[in-house]
Amino acid sequence: MSPQSAPTDRTRLRRMSHKAAHDKATVHAILDAGPVAHVGYIVNGAPHVTPTLQWREGDRVFWHGSAASRFLRVIEGTQACLTVTLTDGLVLARSGFEHSISYRSVLLFGTVQIVSDPAEKEARLKAMMDQMFPGRWPQLRPMTTQDLKATTILTMEVDEASAKISAEMPDDPPEDRNWPIWAGIVPVITTLGPPQPAPDCVPGMALPVVTFGG
Ligand SMILES: Cc1cc2nc3c(=O)[nH]c(=O)nc-3n(C[C@H](O)[C@H](O)[C@H](O)COP(=O)(O)OP(=O)(O)OC[C@H]3O[C@@H](n4cnc5c(N)ncnc54)[C@H](O)[C@@H]3O)c2cc1C
Repeated sequence: MSPQSAPTDRTRLRRMSHKAAHDKATVHAILDAGPVAHVGYIVNGAPHVTPTLQWREGDRVFWHGSAASRFLRVIEGTQACLTVTLTDGLVLARSGFEHSISYRSVLLFGTVQIVSDPAEKEARLKAMMDQMFPGRWPQLRPMTTQDLKATTILTMEVDEASAKISAEMPDDPPEDRNWPIWAGIVPVITTLGPPQPAPDCVPGMALPVVTFGG
């Protein structure tokens, strides 16, 4: 990720600029808390946005998929925009006009490259597992050459990034504030449910200990 934290013309927020952040710590924290990303890119002149899982190592973001994926093939070497959004709350105001959502989001701009070295691929996949499913790697059926071959890993060399954080109470105009309806924020909390074993899960296995995002 670019060491600069001052925005350029591309990443300077014009709308609601007080919600902007460009420092690495903020951008990294949002990326780390939100494994689900959307990647925007151009195919044959037409815009596409594809959802995927992302993980971060240092200043780079990674995502992966089947070697047969068109998305992963056409995007190599191109400019892309990757976003992550965390939904933190519903903002209920006195008018529909002022209703909104509390969120943290990031936009990353950069060039996409394929990770082709098999040793690096394996290290990246281990890093993904360690981040998303901590503790499972040592227990897993070891990765095979075929697993590696069937997996494409992409990485984005991030040129620039911006974050936007919206965490404010409803901003009704003074003339609406006595309107007799509840106003405030209802937090949105993502939780994990009880593990549901696969029908063919070996009986008696210890339950997994997992987390999702941050
Ligand atoms: C869950 C969610 C719901 C939203 N709902 C609405 C809505 O209903 N209506 C609405 O107008 N906007 C909404 N937004 C805000 C929206 O993402 C844009 O910030 C806003 O529309 C202004 O767009 P713009 O192109 O004019 O921004 P500009 O300020 O002109 O954008 C300039 C640059 O600022 C940065 N930037 C802009 N927006 C974001 C962002 N969200 N995250 C990180 N960097 C950013 C980018 O680098 C961008 O290139 C929502 C955002 C989220 C995450």
